[in-house]
Amino acid sequence: MNLILMGLPGAGKGTQAEKINNKYNIPHISTGDMFRLAIKEGTELGKQAKQFMDQGELVPDEVTIGIVQERLSKDDCKNGFLLDGFPRTIAQAEALQKLLAEMGQTIDYVVHVDVPEEKLVERLTGRRICPTCGTAYHVIFNPPKEEGICDKEGSQLVQRDDDKPETVKNRLSVNMEQTQPLLDFYDKKGYLVKVNGDQEIDEVFQDIQGFLDK
Ligand code: AMP
Repeated sequence: MNLILMGLPGAGKGTQAEKINNKYNIPHISTGDMFRLAIKEGTELGKQAKQFMDQGELVPDEVTIGIVQERLSKDDCKNGFLLDGFPRTIAQAEALQKLLAEMGQTIDYVVHVDVPEEKLVERLTGRRICPTCGTAYHVIFNPPKEEGICDKEGSQLVQRDDDKPETVKNRLSVNMEQTQPLLDFYDKKGYLVKVNGDQEIDEVFQDIQGFLDK
């Protein structure tokens, strides 16, 4: 089963990716994670990617397509894969079509986890992180036992710079502009399925399974 997961920041893509990975046993391939790992390991790819990521820009298509091509050729992708964060541009989507055709494969579903923008603003701006252990809380939906304090570490929780209200709106609108052409691209090809991401985590996953188990 070859899948692509799409959704705006805060839509819960990472959570659903983990659930899909556990149930269907297909590797979760996140280009963002691959770049972050390359930077941590100080590889040539990491050096190339870092300058763009630090500016909040996309890594050039040829670099990104190259790493995805290499990753999809690995043995663990034989029974399928779950792409997350790729493709981000039409050029990447077209390159992926070509690559899969060469491998004698196609995409089965592009799953769009859809959450209304105002809900995303609420989710992202209410998020608080423990600087010590990285655990994420939400001031309303998932509050710590004591306000502003991590349950595990006792540390003062912080808000990520890019979760501040003025940044969140901009992040979402830039992302929406990037995502819409891709949703249209896959809709025309008949791969796109939309699930309501504005529900409990398990309900969202049930809806996703409804499509994947068909
Ligand atoms: P993410 O974790 O998916 O938000 O990705 C973090 C950063 O990695 C992005 O802001 C980009 O700089 C880079 N990146 C991840 N995926 C891609 C992609 N498909 N094309 C270009 N750049 C990407």
